[in-house]
Amino acid sequence: MDLYEHQARELFADHGIVVPRAEVTGSPKQAREIARRLGGRVVVKAQVRTGGRGKAGGVKLAADPADAELTARQILGMDIKGHTVHTVMLARPVDIESEFYVSYVLDRAAGRFLAIASAEGGMEIEEVAATRPEAVARVPVDPAEGVTPAVAARIADAAGLPARTVDVLVRLWDVLVHEDALLVEVNPLVSTRDGQIMALDGKVTLDDNARFRHARRGDEADAGHDPREAAAAAKGLHYVKLDGEVGVIGNGAGLVMSTLDVVAGCGARPANFLDIGGGASAQVMADGLSVVLSDPAVKSVLVNVFGGITACDAVADGIVRALGTVRLTKPLVVRLDGNNAERGRALLDERAHPLVEQVTTMDGAASRAAHLATTP
Ligand code: GDP
Ligand code: MN
Repeated sequence: MDLYEHQARELFADHGIVVPRAEVTGSPKQAREIARRLGGRVVVKAQVRTGGRGKAGGVKLAADPADAELTARQILGMDIKGHTVHTVMLARPVDIESEFYVSYVLDRAAGRFLAIASAEGGMEIEEVAATRPEAVARVPVDPAEGVTPAVAARIADAAGLPARTVDVLVRLWDVLVHEDALLVEVNPLVSTRDGQIMALDGKVTLDDNARFRHARRGDEADAGHDPREAAAAAKGLHYVKLDGEVGVIGNGAGLVMSTLDVVAGCGARPANFLDIGGGASAQVMADGLSVVLSDPAVKSVLVNVFGGITACDAVADGIVRALGTVRLTKPLVVRLDGNNAERGRALLDERAHPLVEQVTTMDGAASRAAHLATTP
């Protein structure tokens, strides 16, 4: 589970990492009040669980409380990579001297963690990593040893970070371990003109399998969820919002995950993960379709079903009935294979909905859906 910036910074603060004073709101009027409390000048930041907010116009400096209200009004409702901005965070501005990048990420292949750090942090970090990889240090971290002050000093040294960052590197490791995170990232970690080291942004991915150990925290994180994810969860669907334009529905988590890969392989990006599970009824299909279709970023929908215990004709029947309750506004590409595929395909042919087409192979269906989503 990815956390919002304002949630990540709370974890940082809990572990003694310095963050600017800030408050969160969904209302421009309140933004004005908050700015007044914070001293007038504030940075207004979109709270969406995706990066690149700065470049998308979702991070702006406001000169005074009136300007904060105006800026909040501008940013609220904005679409950033398919994520609608429902809340903004207002933070006391910081006088930046240098911006650094630091993160710890699980390296599954190596069975270790990896510290990634650079003295050239900030919004251009991807560019730096791509053009001058030597400016980004990658230091393996043995999970049993962890990040001791000595290890932190090695990371700082490899990245060319000032010695003052060593303490933060140790504390950030504490966040990862104590919060059961798979990723903690601070970009930018800054040194300020008055000599402080502060985290100005935060990205944290918690390990869902460790959720039971953080009952309270899990609820807090959920409270800020994407409304579509919340609606899907209420209907018992396994839905995860992604950044792309092809809606994906399938039966079985493994099949849906490979479908995401195949869509990406066709040059498009999946808009979501949605597993309708084994016993996909008409109601589940209708619920799933309405959640996926309600996403304005979705340009086409791919339904990929391999009939097993749930036969394809039952799934097709579900789609046909769903078409009776959900108004289809985007092309739907259906691939049915496995148990009773022939009967399932016949049912959909009979229904002959102008926006529904069938392709019999997974690759073919993904490529068709990708094409429909990416050609105007
Ligand atoms: P991101 O683009 O989604 O990663 O959003 P960030 O929170 O990293 O903000 C983008 C950029 O805005 C940072 O790299 C900083 O340069 C700048 N920024 C963010 N907060 C502050 C602040 O308090 N003061 C100043 N001067 N710049 C800030
Ligand atoms: Mn950032």
